[in-house]
Amino acid sequence: MLSVIQNPPRPALPIFGSEDFFPVRRVYCVGRNYRAHAREMGADERDPPFFFLKPADTLQLVSEGETAEHPYPPRTGNYHFEVELVAALGRGGRDIPVETAGTHVYGYAVGLDMTRRDLQDEAKRLARPWEMGKAADFSAPVGALRPAGTIGHPASGAITLQVDGTERQRGDLSEMIWSVPEQVALLSTYFELHPGDLIFTGTPSGVGPVARGQTMTARVEGVGAITLRVA
Ligand code: MN
Repeated sequence: MLSVIQNPPRPALPIFGSEDFFPVRRVYCVGRNYRAHAREMGADERDPPFFFLKPADTLQLVSEGETAEHPYPPRTGNYHFEVELVAALGRGGRDIPVETAGTHVYGYAVGLDMTRRDLQDEAKRLARPWEMGKAADFSAPVGALRPAGTIGHPASGAITLQVDGTERQRGDLSEMIWSVPEQVALLSTYFELHPGDLIFTGTPSGVGPVARGQTMTARVEGVGAITLRVA
């Protein structure tokens, strides 16, 4: 049997400082996971977390040290940055206990959950699905993975985003409402998780729009930095 079309490429993240790579299965995202950002979006910070997905082919792989060209998507006039820590699962499971959930994480990267905020706001208002806001092509830029075996499991450290050299977002990983192990444990009650799954773990406050010609630098202390110019 032959594939009747060219096989779609499977996205894979490079492992920092190595020729190895991490093939990606699914991209899960958590909403409103930093207190100040939950407040700026009008939510109660004690709400339980909620999840959504981006298609894995929305990943835009960005090498550190390069300035990647990031295409401004169609059908939006309010395209927002959200800098996030990305956790990559090396082991899956169902109903994973929170006490051991951290050991399922293979490594970490810095990512952006780029969002057509106008379309997301419209979807919220009309009680429609979020994909038109959250799943634009190239809407998940991500850097190289750092294995937990090398950097550990970062539970604190600055997470920042600059636009044209001006800081727009700043938070600390310790300000997450739901920790990475808590996210893994909870998500595994909804889905069987698998090696290759990514979790975008939420963004600190300060989200805002970016325009064509601007340059974004997303950075997580100890995890890496990526730079993209909006084209
Ligand atoms: Mn987000």
